[in-house]
Amino acid sequence: MSTPAGGPLLEARGLEKSFGDNHVLRGVDVLADAGTVTVLIGPSGSGKTTVLRSLNLLEVPDAGSVRIGQARMEFPAPGGRPDRRAVARLRAQSGMVFQAHNLFPHLTVLGNVTEGPVVVQRRPPAEVRAEALALLERVGLAGKAEQYPHQLSGGQQQRVGIARALAIRPALLLFDEPTSALDPELVGEVLAVMKDLADQGWTMVVVTHEMRFARQVADRVLFLDGGVVVEEGAPAEVLGAPRHERTRRFLHRLA
Ligand code: ADP
Repeated sequence: MSTPAGGPLLEARGLEKSFGDNHVLRGVDVLADAGTVTVLIGPSGSGKTTVLRSLNLLEVPDAGSVRIGQARMEFPAPGGRPDRRAVARLRAQSGMVFQAHNLFPHLTVLGNVTEGPVVVQRRPPAEVRAEALALLERVGLAGKAEQYPHQLSGGQQQRVGIARALAIRPALLLFDEPTSALDPELVGEVLAVMKDLADQGWTMVVVTHEMRFARQVADRVLFLDGGVVVEEGAPAEVLGAPRHERTRRFLHRLA
């Protein structure tokens, strides 16, 4: 996807969000170049999920701006209410993989992957189906297309979730703790698919507690605490030689 003046693919600036009197995001910037992996880490409640959900407007920020490619919105929206077409345009730029996969239980694996492109994007079903089968193969689920979610393991379900996010042909992939609901023995297969996608050049923003993944796959790590980015940089810097006491304390607790 082309970006104005070759800037970053993702440019979110000054994000603010409150839930009632809980001021959750206090001016968060997230910038990511095309083809890079950005990992958000931080204590529970620091605002990581809210940042991610703000990038595809599952949460509408109170202030700040979000640009992905050439789709851009400012908050609060002029006139108060966000323009529905602008929301749809920005949302179409990113595919989200959730903590729990959120698959439709009454649809087959293939049905889950084709739903967005066919129903929301109104693309030709035959073309979408062929592409979905290729995506299922890519996430290691060739042969599972006609099964239902309950017939799959948690790791397989989560890989369907990844195929579903890819199916809308997003510019950016967002992962919200994609392995935290999985049994430990199933975590590796999901991380392996994510690493594959990173190797193929997908631009990804990932909320995770998997520090090994962050060290091996991330180009940048952002450490959030109390709704601000306390520290950011290459994994070797933030994880290997953190400058801030809060980052050190967080990493120490995980160790
Ligand atoms: P993290 O992902 O770092 O654990 P979250 O972004 O999930 O943090 O949550 C940050 C804070 O915002 C928490 O205090 C949480 O309770 C609150 N919060 C998140 N989503 C909502 C919501 N939809 N309504 C009310 N409070 C919320």
